[in-house]
Parts: sequence; structure tokens; C-alpha cells
Amino acid sequence: MTLSFWHRWRKEFARRLTIMVIPHGIARPRQLSFSVSFLLFLFLCWTGVTAWAGYMASQRFDYWRLKANTHVLRIKVEYFANEVKRAREMLDDVKEMETQLRTMMGMGSRDAIIQSEENPLQNQGGPTAGDEMELQKLLDGRVSELTLQDVSLQIHQLRQEMDQRLSSFSELTEKIDYERRLFRSLPNIWPTNGYLTSHFGHRLSPFSGLDDWHKGVDIAAPPGSPVHASADGVVILAGWAGGYGKVVVVDHGYGYSTRYGHNRQILVKRGDRVRRGQILSLVGSTGNATGPHCHYEVWFLGRPVNPRRFMHLEG
Ligand code: ZN
Repeated sequence: MTLSFWHRWRKEFARRLTIMVIPHGIARPRQLSFSVSFLLFLFLCWTGVTAWAGYMASQRFDYWRLKANTHVLRIKVEYFANEVKRAREMLDDVKEMETQLRTMMGMGSRDAIIQSEENPLQNQGGPTAGDEMELQKLLDGRVSELTLQDVSLQIHQLRQEMDQRLSSFSELTEKIDYERRLFRSLPNIWPTNGYLTSHFGHRLSPFSGLDDWHKGVDIAAPPGSPVHASADGVVILAGWAGGYGKVVVVDHGYGYSTRYGHNRQILVKRGDRVRRGQILSLVGSTGNATGPHCHYEVWFLGRPVNPRRFMHLEG
């Protein structure tokens, strides 16, 4: 049975086919004769060539697609490299501004301080060798050599530097804030409009006629004139206190406090937060006073000092 099957197939392959070509006109008809196995061979060859051509075409397609992607990627890298460069230039401007600010405020360079702490032998700062290399690449127009890793490294460095600048600026802000609060706490205005009738220090007592140490200045003013806080602070006393009469004491912080005596009326209470120039009380002659005036004292670090040293501005 199997034998006869193979036998039949071999006969089929060996069978010959004849193709007749009959041209129009006078030419003679031609006939081409092939065996079935030869035709089968031709068919297999054709299929193989087609498959190979298809495979090659797909390979080329992948290649071109990859090439196009690489081109797009390079354009992107160039774009980001330029952005990084611009960011760095901006950061350099910021750094310069910061240096000027620090010089103006009499603060040392933070970088120099940090670097000298980290590495006492080297406090030069400036761009690293890597920075120089990247810059040179950009200058040469060899941006195509910049890889994504280069750009991401630069971005990392930029971020570090930005962090440094930010903390430096917050330090500057703190310093400015400190200076501002310190300034607001300096008792630098006249507490009331009037004229000085008694100076700070040695004098003869207007009551006993004996030697006396005057702990403040007396400013004569019409009764009921407003008495202003000479700096920002907190009222720590508002009430009667012996010879001072009705007195207001304000603590300004930073070691400063001020006292305003002989008031006719007090307009603030203990614990009130007051601003420079705010009205505390009205001029009177309560306590040991010969006439309406504001007895004004400035204390620094627990001792009375000459208020005239601070009274630069009109109240
Ligand atoms: Zn006095």
C-alpha cells in the first residue's frame, strides 16, 4: 500500500507538462516542456527570494526609523543643553547679585565660608573641570557629542547650586529681617513734641536743690499732648509708680526698654504690642513734677543711658 503510494507520487513528479506559445502572425508556435519537479523547484526558489526580500526590507525600515529617532533625540538633547546653559548663566547673575548684597550687608561669602570649613586648603570655588569641558563642547559647536547623561549631570549640578543659592538667600532674608527688627526696636524718635527742660545725668534736684542723677530727659509740652512709643515693643507696665506718677514702660527687645512718666492719662495696657509712633499716653504732671512734661528714659542692658543719643527724629 505505502509502496504503491510513493510509486504514484514519483510518477506524478516525473510527469512532464508542455506549454504552447502561439504568437499571432506568421511566427511559428513554440512549445516549452517542463517536468513537474522542475516547476516545483522554481516555485520554491521564488517563495524563498520573496521571503528574503521582505526580511531585508523590514531590516532597512527599522534602520531608518532608528536613524530618525536618533536625529530627533539629538535635537532634544541640544535644546536641553541650551536651556541648561541659559539656566547656568542666570544662576551666575544671581550669584553675582548675592555677592553684591553680601558685600553691602557686610556679610562674608557663604561659599567661601562653607568651602574653607569643608576643605581649608582649597577655597577657590568656581567652575569644575567638568563644567569647563562641557562649556568647551558648546563653544566648539560639538553639541552632538553631548549625551543625555551629560545634560542630566549638568541639571543635577544646577539643582545643587540652586539649593545653595536658595539657602544663602534665606540666610540673607533672615539677616535683613533681623536688621529691620533691630532698627524698629531702636528708640530713635522724640516721644513728644516739646523742648528739653532737663538733661540726662548730673543736675540739681528741682525739689530738694541737692545733687541728683537724672535717669532721663524732661520734655516740656502742653498738657494732653500725645506721647508716642519711640520704637516697636511690648508694654510691660502701665500704671502709677511713685514719683513717676502715671508711667508707661515699653520693652523693645535687644536689650532696650523705655519709660514715659508724669502722664495725665494712659491709653495702653500691660501686654499691648505697640509700634513706633503709636500714642501711649497724654502729657501731664502726675507724680513728682513741677509742670506738665514727659520724663523720658532709655534703658539698655539694665542701665539708663542718655536718650539724646537716640533721639534723631521728630515724634
Ligand atoms: Zn525727669
